[in-house]
Amino acid sequence: MKAISQSATVTINALAMQKKGNGERVYNFAAGDPFLNNHWCITHAAVRETQKQYCPYPPVEGIPELRILASEWLNASCRTQYSKDNVLVTCGGKFALFSIIYSLLQAGEEVLIPAPFWVSYPDIVKMAGGRPKMVPASHESGWKINAEDLRKHASEKSKILIFNNACNPTGALYSREEVALLLNAAKEAGLIVVSDEVYSGLVYDGLEFVSCGSFPEHAERVIIVQSCSKNFGMTGWRIGFVFAPHSVVRRLAVLQGQSTTGTALMSQWAAMGALENAAEVNAYIKNAMCKRRDMFADTFNSLFPVKIEKPQSALYAFVPISSMQPFASTDADAFCERAMVDGNVALVPGKAFGVDGYARFAFSGPEEELVAGLQILKKMIGDKSP
Ligand code: PLP
Repeated sequence: MKAISQSATVTINALAMQKKGNGERVYNFAAGDPFLNNHWCITHAAVRETQKQYCPYPPVEGIPELRILASEWLNASCRTQYSKDNVLVTCGGKFALFSIIYSLLQAGEEVLIPAPFWVSYPDIVKMAGGRPKMVPASHESGWKINAEDLRKHASEKSKILIFNNACNPTGALYSREEVALLLNAAKEAGLIVVSDEVYSGLVYDGLEFVSCGSFPEHAERVIIVQSCSKNFGMTGWRIGFVFAPHSVVRRLAVLQGQSTTGTALMSQWAAMGALENAAEVNAYIKNAMCKRRDMFADTFNSLFPVKIEKPQSALYAFVPISSMQPFASTDADAFCERAMVDGNVALVPGKAFGVDGYARFAFSGPEEELVAGLQILKKMIGDKSP
């Protein structure tokens, strides 16, 4: 455990919350949390069921009705073919990832991780005794890896690829052809593909989200991680899902039975409320997040000299420091620290995601905070930009 670091996003978010608690005005771009009230379907279902029934230990794999609803939702929204026995309900997507890696990996085996990556992947791999091996993507390639990149980095020790589409921190989105080529390369290399798809419902501008679960020929090597956190705005309820072959679900359920015992029933009832109305609840979140993305990018581009493109998906813009201060240092750690100390603007430096020289902005916060936070940054940088 000594090799495991505290999540950078959790740390910075905690600092921002602490400052807010002290009565300071804080501009929080650190947390990817769709800041919106619960959709009424969620609270209504949770309260109704809590008043109606006794609250015993939950079934370890999750309430059967929720597992059915989850499979129906994914099949309808992502062209997959799962049934209840392919679904495990977990304490958020993060524990889904942890239990998959912990259950399937042997000490010393490698896990391939495209970089930039979500902050927790390398530490989860290390906790399981495995070795994270980065597969770098570049700004020029749209922050996407291809089959050749995978072939170059896979070795005999490589067991798993963690694939994150739609991507945190870049908003990169893979096409059907790109996913198909990667899955073929993963098969050639004998890799299990753990596909983190927690932003599947936050894809903008009419673009298509392509699930690794929508390729039946790869069903035996693909494990999907899903969550209610982002797609349905339910971060605090802590509901995630694994979609996998039944044998994998059974194996993960053993770990769950010896650790969490399953997910809080009230949260599962809330998730049923969301999934019974999945299209409506997702549209409520997605439309608001799309508006915030536009507001963020338009404000950024009106204030800073180098323009950014609107991210195609998720809740983040991965921004080169040089786009804000072209004539000054591009030390992202120093920039983010100064933003926090001098301006109460919480950003996460790119190094936490495996790439230096960038800062990640989450645009999921309240609208007035997005605009005011960017204006503070502009003031902090001074008049070096036009
Ligand atoms: N995967 C990615 C890429 C994420 O960004 C997050 C959260 O930020 C998660 C998984 C975990 O989400 P949760 O545990 O809230 O479901």
